[in-house]
Amino acid sequence: MTYDFDLFVIGGGSGGVRCARIAAGHGARVGIAEERHWGGTCVNIGCVPKKLMVMAADYGATVRDARGFGWNFGDGPHDWHTLIANKDSEISRLNAIYRRLLDSAGARIFEARATFVDAHTLDVGGQRVTADKIVIATGGHPTQPAFPGAEHCIISDDAFFLPERPRRVVLLGGGYIAVEFAGIFAGLGSEVDLVFRQPLPLRGFDEDLRTALAEALAAGGVRLHPGVSPVSVEAAGGTKRVHLSDGAVLEADLVFAALGRAPNVAGLGLDRAGVATGNAGAVLVNGQSRTSAEHIYAIGDVTDRLNLTPVATAEGHALADGLFGPGPRTWTLDRVATAVFSSPPIASVGLTEQQAAKRGPADIYVSRFTPMRHALTGRPRKTLMKLVVDQATQRVLGAHMLGEDAPEIMQGLSIAINCGATKADFDRTVGIHPTAAEEFVTLRTRTRVAAASPESDAPPLIGPQEIGAAEMGVGF
Ligand SMILES: Cc1cc2nc3c(=O)[nH]c(=O)nc-3n(C[C@H](O)[C@H](O)[C@H](O)COP(=O)(O)OP(=O)(O)OC[C@H]3O[C@@H](n4cnc5c(N)ncnc54)[C@H](O)[C@@H]3O)c2cc1C
Repeated sequence: MTYDFDLFVIGGGSGGVRCARIAAGHGARVGIAEERHWGGTCVNIGCVPKKLMVMAADYGATVRDARGFGWNFGDGPHDWHTLIANKDSEISRLNAIYRRLLDSAGARIFEARATFVDAHTLDVGGQRVTADKIVIATGGHPTQPAFPGAEHCIISDDAFFLPERPRRVVLLGGGYIAVEFAGIFAGLGSEVDLVFRQPLPLRGFDEDLRTALAEALAAGGVRLHPGVSPVSVEAAGGTKRVHLSDGAVLEADLVFAALGRAPNVAGLGLDRAGVATGNAGAVLVNGQSRTSAEHIYAIGDVTDRLNLTPVATAEGHALADGLFGPGPRTWTLDRVATAVFSSPPIASVGLTEQQAAKRGPADIYVSRFTPMRHALTGRPRKTLMKLVVDQATQRVLGAHMLGEDAPEIMQGLSIAINCGATKADFDRTVGIHPTAAEEFVTLRTRTRVAAASPESDAPPLIGPQEIGAAEMGVGF
């Protein structure tokens, strides 16, 4: 049987574009369909515009911080329209690059929705195409809340195109999207209430980071409402009233629901292709991205495992290499570094203290200090750094940081941790001075031992603390 394509990719986001581009580069006849925007969530309504908006908020704070260093800038209001217009033109530039990459690799581009007709046939914008192998890379979407008045809420897709910056925002959710937008809106001058069900934001992150983030958000002017959930939202004129489970009522101009995401599988016709799904419709795959149908694969957020752009692209690349190239690239979902672009940002790699303690005793090193950047600003910003070390092997199991440049620092550290570095390897590494990052190689005194057993001497979170060498200017 001959097919129109060796490989057809459904979805032109991070994973799909990489997979199609690499497969075409290996000489495969590749087709790819995208129904909305090249580059997918990350480029258009995710990582990239989000980070530009985080930077916009940071620049405002930097201008104010500069006064402590002798600069005397005025305190003009932020111009939302300039930010959104400049952001949009940058995104258009990136869209064009993604499309061009596919074109120059020789992939055939379809700007249409693709759905399964049968296991080897797709309907692509009304046209039938057949393919030997098919990749589902359709990503995910924000879930719509179900409480009464949910129609008065926006979701993250909308947040990038608001005509005006709201003066008062209620953010619903404690995940990374909620805390990032809390920082964006607060940094640009909005009043922000953050409502989340857990005692602390960012469930799943190290508890010290969660505590420090809650403190930093509050210090940045965000009003925190932990342990409650939204019950209903009513709208009267331009004002929204958010009723919470503890009886409180919050008023806002904008209610932003960031309550989770779900895989894009509705209407794809997966049943006609014999592709099995699990929780919330996530496409089930094995370690080689293969679905329950022998020749159909799924990558990225549609599989709902580790929903990050570099994971989707790594999966797409590995799959294309495995199917048409020199063989699969080796990579692992273990110890993937991750960042939250909150204010200040967070970054982590490896095990949290809580995860490590379940495996056996772990030596915990924590340092919390005022970074030099804020020595003269008067802004009450603290940096937190933490190492989680397996007591038996002295291998560093996890590194965690809250503070400026945390994501940039963690990218390098993740290489060391993935190479199996021990605490002694960190200790014999000479630092770069004066930096905040040098603290990771000068953490000398164990803060506590974490263990799941009742004998654990783990004290309360964050503390006792080392004094950061970077803070004291003695890290050499
Ligand atoms: C607000 C926000 C911030 C984020 N920030 C970060 C971050 O800082 N760092 C990070 O690593 N990750 C971040 N992410 C997550 C990241 O965007 C995703 O993990 C990544 O985009 C997943 O890539 P993907 O290829 O699986 O799916 P997507 O990028 O979502 O691409 C899927 C594409 O498929 C298309 N599609 C869907 N169905 C069809 C169909 N039937 N036919 C044709 N086309 C179809 C969609 O239009 C979409 O373009 C963020 C996400 C959001 C929402």
